[in-house]
Amino acid sequence: MTQESGGFAALNLHPTILAAVIATGYEEPSAIQQQSIPIILAGHDMIGQAQTGTGKTAAFALPILSLIDPTKREPQALILAPTRELALQVATAFETYAKQMPGVTVVAVYGGAPMGPQLKAIRNGAQIVVATPGRLCDHLRRDEKVLATVNHLVLDEADEMLKLGFMDDLEVIFKAMPETRQTVLFSATLPQSIRAIAERHLKDPKHVKIQSKTQTVTAIEQAHLLVHADQKTSAVLSLLEVEDFDALIMFVRTKQATLDLASALEAKGYKAAALNGDIAQNQRERVIDSLKDGRLDIVVATDVAARGLDVPRITHVFNVDMPYDPEAYVHRIGRTGRAGREGRALLLVTPRERRMLQVIERMTGQKIAEVRLPDSQAVLDARIKKLTNSLSPLVADAEASHGELLDRLTADIGCTPRALAAALLRKATNGQALTLSAIEKERPLVPNNAPRGDRPERPAGDRPDRGDRERRAPVPLAEGRARCRTALGARDGIAAKNLLGAILNEGGLAREAIGRIQVRDSFSLVELPEDGLERLLAKLKDTRVAGKQLKLRRYRED
Ligand code: ADP
Ligand code: MG
Repeated sequence: MTQESGGFAALNLHPTILAAVIATGYEEPSAIQQQSIPIILAGHDMIGQAQTGTGKTAAFALPILSLIDPTKREPQALILAPTRELALQVATAFETYAKQMPGVTVVAVYGGAPMGPQLKAIRNGAQIVVATPGRLCDHLRRDEKVLATVNHLVLDEADEMLKLGFMDDLEVIFKAMPETRQTVLFSATLPQSIRAIAERHLKDPKHVKIQSKTQTVTAIEQAHLLVHADQKTSAVLSLLEVEDFDALIMFVRTKQATLDLASALEAKGYKAAALNGDIAQNQRERVIDSLKDGRLDIVVATDVAARGLDVPRITHVFNVDMPYDPEAYVHRIGRTGRAGREGRALLLVTPRERRMLQVIERMTGQKIAEVRLPDSQAVLDARIKKLTNSLSPLVADAEASHGELLDRLTADIGCTPRALAAALLRKATNGQALTLSAIEKERPLVPNNAPRGDRPERPAGDRPDRGDRERRAPVPLAEGRARCRTALGARDGIAAKNLLGAILNEGGLAREAIGRIQVRDSFSLVELPEDGLERLLAKLKDTRVAGKQLKLRRYRED
């Protein structure tokens, strides 16, 4: 046993559970585990309040596994979780911790899967039942005795369960269990509704509260960046160039924004996907699995859809849209820095949202430093660094394998090795801008001078950088016009007249209806009439320009 495991060893867990925890690689119990495990082991009722990512699952799973009798083949513990995804996560954790405990079975009970096998697993003697309240009630309607032997009940994320409207279901479930049971309730927040439940259904509960806000936040390096709303996508793309991330989650407020941003990222070659409430449960799980194993690197999510998402690979959280409240902010950034790892969280702030930034700083007791968008030089440096990193491991033995070919090609073409190497680089980098001027041309909509947040706007004439700003800032939209974006640009062989032609022909618009068209290297912007825009975009859905799908979408603005 390693020295670090002493913390767990002192907790009086069942020896096989302790062995499994050590095998999992946990070194020390987290604060909530340290405090909850002895209380639960002693059989007390308990209310535990702690933020996401503090290790609540093991805080109840380890003592409960220690308390059950594996030789009795009947349900002994019930864990309620708000969503199918969380129920599965908890069930998996139980299975991991029970690995060295033969005879223990765990069943997950949730909607969207056939009821028969779930009920059968319970009747076959699963000792641990992890369930969503809704589905469990369905089972109770078929068999009211199904919970009659359960003497440990855990409500995980109780506040979420109430938010999802499970209050009545919970009452039904409480009634179906022996009154002598132990009840443990975990919740990030303790609103009045939760306290009322505790009052009615818990017996003299012990309270454990982990002030995890600062704790959750300290492992995470936070920064904010001031941008105009319509520059968010380009700001995100610039940040991605220079941030050294493994996996990343971006938060936006709307379903549409998850789709728009994910497709803008995909168009840039990132392995990105959207996660929102409309996405079917199994597709959602596929997205999360892909993020876990590296088939995806970026997930663009709404708060609801990212609830409970636990992917250790996540090194970065981008708050592309402001969270609705400081609590949501803490939840979001808790997706990174999991289990004490370091993480980085960036918050995009539009001029109107500066007050919310201050509220968050006050709530978390931390200043969130301002950073600027990387300038073109930084983007160039980052691109060259990536190129260097990808090529340098090849240099050692490429000459042995490809040196002769190089000689032959230079002879056949009649060029210098330098010329050939340059040609190969151009091919390998696939048209990516790798000079300062090329990069500048590519990112004209990202001003180096984002709006300054920490001081009031000065009158225009007072700005030292006025000329620069005017040259770089996007042209204001005319009344009644909407700005739309396509991922097709100059690098796809597109010119303004191609876009104009396609939109006039397929959209059936008059020339006057179309405003400014800006073609950049990797995307284009087109101003279209706001009136009937959705219909127009639907009409242009399958339009192709220069052989490629136009995929015109509304460009997000405030
Ligand atoms: P919560 O339910 O509070 O949001 P989880 O129980 O999901 O937190 O735990 C968050 C992450 O921390 C999980 O990946 C879990 O495996 C890990 N973890 C939990 N306890 C420990 C520990 N003592 N040492 C290391 N990692 C832990
Ligand atoms: Mg949890």
